Amino acid sequence: METYYRIDRNYQIVDVGGAWDDFAISNGSDECVSKYVIGDNLRNHITGDVIWMWFEALVTGVFVSGKTVERDYRCDAPYARRLFKLTCVLEAPETICFTHKLISEEAMDTTVAISTPTRLSNTTPRCSICNSVYLDGEWQDPFSLNRDLMLQATYTMCESCRDADADLSARSA
Ligand SMILES: [Zn+2]
Repeated sequence: METYYRIDRNYQIVDVGGAWDDFAISNGSDECVSKYVIGDNLRNHITGDVIWMWFEALVTGVFVSGKTVERDYRCDAPYARRLFKLTCVLEAPETICFTHKLISEEAMDTTVAISTPTRLSNTTPRCSICNSVYLDGEWQDPFSLNRDLMLQATYTMCESCRDADADLSARSA
């Protein structure tokens, strides 16, 4: 399963494609890549200031260096761990193509249902890169708890993902 979209220098989405419709449907309410619309601004589809800053660093680095950047990330389904690879390619002087490809999917015995908050209390920070959630004072894989979870999550990045991408613009594939 693979989807892609292209943006211009103003983060406007100029093209989407791949297994787009299938993915949007199977992804349900997922926030990861399913809701981008041509002509819309990517900013409207990235939840959380921290992850938006990460995207800006990524985009700026690709435009400046011209180098392809790859980053693995988790975008789980409620019933499965799913690992994706994001690839960012400078295709023309003014366009970057993002490709999201499913690398692996591992069905789980427990269910992790994560929704966006309907109110500001009782929210759980969730890392948009590794999918860990901040529970009981530490970042943990939600499936590692071996129990069903229902969480209202705010989207951010955990410390280890921030550290790993501290120099994101210098990465190249
Ligand atoms: Zn993380």
